[in-house]
Amino acid sequence: MKYYILFGPPGAGKGTQAKLISKEFNLLHVSTGELLRKEIAEGTELGIMAQQIISEGHLVPDDIVVGMIEHIFSTTEGVNGFLLDGFPRTINQAKMLDKMLKEDEHAKVDKVISLIISDATIFERIGKRAEVEGREDDAASAIIKNRIDTYHTQTEPLIEYYKEQGKYYPIEGERSIEEVFESACALIKE
Ligand code: AMP
Repeated sequence: MKYYILFGPPGAGKGTQAKLISKEFNLLHVSTGELLRKEIAEGTELGIMAQQIISEGHLVPDDIVVGMIEHIFSTTEGVNGFLLDGFPRTINQAKMLDKMLKEDEHAKVDKVISLIISDATIFERIGKRAEVEGREDDAASAIIKNRIDTYHTQTEPLIEYYKEQGKYYPIEGERSIEEVFESACALIKE
């Protein structure tokens, strides 16, 4: 099994690219954000707990998302691997992922493909997405700002973490969907 991470700030186009890339390489696209929104929609205990945190633009506790990922890894068959979108988002999550892969699957993260976009573009894209998808956490600029701040303080340190392991591959995210997709595919094929 291959394990790829699609990395980048909110609004970088991770979801759009992950759908295309996972189809191209028969990977399972795993979006922790989508899984959490599903829990919220179904009104589960986990969803009720996560709703408040997500609506404020903060991160849900590491144990919760790691547990969701572990469940998916252990119950999925028939794919070449996984494309993680929006996970890990903290150094602690990354360490828990490494440990889980090593112990449960005798595997490792293969590549981290990072979509680079500016904060100004994040704002612009999330604003547009709010009109299309109606996500509560996309709607107010104060929440978007929290999510960008959270990204810079808690998630960005992962860049160094994966650079040190020689797994970090940045690509320019402010291009057309097709161009970004081509660059991502080239990295996976390498
Ligand atoms: P996303 O769809 O990836 O932008 O995620 C939406 C929201 O879900 C985030 O702003 C967080 O509140 C929460 N979330 C998604 N993935 C994670 C994660 N790996 N760790 C913590 N919270 C997460």
